[in-house]
Amino acid sequence: MTKKLYVKSYGCQMNVYDSHRMADTLAPEGFVETATPDDADLIILNTCHIREKAAEKVYSELGRMRVLKQEAALQGRDVKIAVAGCVAQAEGAEIIRRERAVDLVVGPQSYHRLPDMLKRAEQGKAIDTEFPVEDKFAHLAAPSHAATRKRGVSAFITVQEGCDKFCTFCVVPYTRGAEVSRPVARIVAEAQRLADAGVREITLLGQNVNAYHGEDSDGHAATLGCLMHRLAEIPGIARLRYFTSHPRDMDDDLIAAHRDLPALMPQLHLPVQSGSDRILEAMNRHHTRADYLRLIERLRRARPDLAFSSDFIVGFPGETEDDFADTLRLMAEVGYASAFSFKYSPRPGTPAADLDQVPEAAQDERLQRLQADIERQQAAFMSAYVGQTFDVLFEKHGRHPGQIVGRSPYLQPVPVVAPASLIGEIAPVTITEVRTNSLIGTLAQASRQAVPLAEAVGA
Ligand code: SAM
Ligand code: SF4
Repeated sequence: MTKKLYVKSYGCQMNVYDSHRMADTLAPEGFVETATPDDADLIILNTCHIREKAAEKVYSELGRMRVLKQEAALQGRDVKIAVAGCVAQAEGAEIIRRERAVDLVVGPQSYHRLPDMLKRAEQGKAIDTEFPVEDKFAHLAAPSHAATRKRGVSAFITVQEGCDKFCTFCVVPYTRGAEVSRPVARIVAEAQRLADAGVREITLLGQNVNAYHGEDSDGHAATLGCLMHRLAEIPGIARLRYFTSHPRDMDDDLIAAHRDLPALMPQLHLPVQSGSDRILEAMNRHHTRADYLRLIERLRRARPDLAFSSDFIVGFPGETEDDFADTLRLMAEVGYASAFSFKYSPRPGTPAADLDQVPEAAQDERLQRLQADIERQQAAFMSAYVGQTFDVLFEKHGRHPGQIVGRSPYLQPVPVVAPASLIGEIAPVTITEVRTNSLIGTLAQASRQAVPLAEAVGA
């Protein structure tokens, strides 16, 4: 009998990937995904614990899900609620004490055990927050061709999980555990399956993706650069990206891959967090401001059109006005295409949570200044593209009739009036106008000619 599954993802792209794999694993149990929790038999909230706000959101959502569950029970329907992800790992049984409507709590390393946990949940609450010895990826079901096609032409593959860096602000080493890399052959097989189903772009994911050191067929550890070369050979795969990198793990192989592989897109997220050496040391980042700037220079030499983005934390304990000014100066020196910025959020159990905190008013004021600079840099980056022509990978229909939307090499959405047959294809687009977060363009002459006339007029 068909049952309905609603999965809501919070936080990073790794959670989006995990949510897909949970749905794939539950499909053989008769679960079909639904877009709303209203008619679901199983609701999974795949949670994020990185900042306090992210974790608190989960509890307010659980309150709403409890009401749905009660209403369904009045109609004789049994709805199960599961909390997955990093809040599940960090808080475990505490979640059920705070919200009795929760039936299952499953940590990020135990998703492959969900079918079994659901059976246990018929008898009472089921909790699994272990770090099992078996590899969850080897046990998670692969998506069907149909499920892959529905998810579009751009897909994620998690290649590495966990982190051994222990930055003093971060919960990841505690919630995701020690760093583990998947073997090369399994990743190549997954990419091959995605390509066979029509996927054209793959983003490799990991909390520390460039620390990748998965086993190769010769028994040695492969670098991420080496893995990129293997993936670039798969017919159909036209674009490769990776996310998120640590500056310390940017090795020669990976820098050379940026030079040698046209499929590796010229956009790199390389979080620096702060521009002050004092703060970088207190954060346990293991690199200086000068190291980071040197790295940017080497990458630019390897691939001159490479655009950078970063994460910044403002108001880390002990951050002075001078430290913050160093961050603004570093930003100006690098010139980012975009950036994420966060106020420092103390996370229970991490070393920085016990230090003297920067007053909230100062944090707010610094965040505003930083974000104003980010906006200026982003606008300058975007406006430089007016009049230029570059390849766009078309992903879906646009909001307006006759329009389709793709992504530039730099990840901005590009809506264009063009035939729907170009969805899944790459075509050159000339940029005519810039909006805050998107680029407007027209198909470049060559690709217009390439479209058969019958298709162009919609016949
Ligand atoms: N591994 C990546 C790295 O080393 O840069 C970061 C991954 S983390 C999941 C994503 C971002 O969340 C971090 O780059 C950092 O800016 C932010 N973050 C992590 N912990 C935080 C905290 N306690 N308060 C504020 N922001 C935080
Ligand atoms: Fe967290 Fe990234 Fe530092 Fe690891 S390297 S502890 S994931 S911020």
